Amino acid sequence: MSSLDSIAREASRLLRESKYAVVFTGSGISAEAGIPTFRGKDGLWNKYRPEELATPAAFATNPLRVWKWYAWRIGLVLRAQPTIAHRAIAELEEMGIVKAVVTQNVDGLHQRAGSKNVIELHGSIMRARCTECGYKWQIERQQSDEELPLRCPKCNALARPDVVWFGEPLPSDALYAAYREFSKADLVVIVGTSGVVEPAGSMPLITLRNGGKLINVNLERNRYSGIATISYHGKSSEFFKKLMSLMR
Ligand code: NAD
Repeated sequence: MSSLDSIAREASRLLRESKYAVVFTGSGISAEAGIPTFRGKDGLWNKYRPEELATPAAFATNPLRVWKWYAWRIGLVLRAQPTIAHRAIAELEEMGIVKAVVTQNVDGLHQRAGSKNVIELHGSIMRARCTECGYKWQIERQQSDEELPLRCPKCNALARPDVVWFGEPLPSDALYAAYREFSKADLVVIVGTSGVVEPAGSMPLITLRNGGKLINVNLERNRYSGIATISYHGKSSEFFKKLMSLMR
């Protein structure tokens, strides 16, 4: 039996026995949809430095440059389709096994795959927010350079992407909702995250401290590899394809 076979079998047993399973995802789950991760091989930050683009200081210095980078990423997200992993997670929720998805991602692919209870810790790239009046609106299409930087349709002040940048606090409603889910959970399935961005990265430890278990699916070893009951180091699509053949 290959290691993927035995890992998936054990994961399916843990999922079936769980009373309250929560999924925790990062950018790795969307890598196979063509949306680059920040770290790891082919990460966005190998080409761009985060402090030049995803910080309040970068936006204050050069909002147009930051908006151009976001417009490029919005284009990637609009062209992307949910992966096998996103769809499997939605199906596990439909089956009543997964109760919530807590994601660090800003791409909305979980919702497009059909997940209902999704908590976005870092906001959404498909939403803009006015820097003056706080008005928020959905972004429906990729903007041309001439339309940037976006301005508020209500008060015409400068708008920004409604995402959490480095050094900014998480939205309190998402933060509390996530703490609630991890406190209730007896199993967390972690998918495609290095786990280094805080406070998100430490949240699965709440479940662990309460006596719950972790399943860790990530291309390379990460901070959960030593503490998870099961770790699969490979592509999330491979893992979920095998897992779902055992769950259906
Ligand atoms: P990260 O870049 O730190 O880690 C991603 C992890 O995914 C890496 O360890 C990598 O080995 C793994 N990975 C890559 N391809 C994979 C695959 N096919 N299957 C399984 N694992 C794979 O990302 P992070 O932990 O999410 O933290 C960075 C921050 O970046 C987050 O706050 C998030 O908001 C933001 N981000 C989001 C998106 C998105 O929404 N799609 C994209 C880039 C960055």
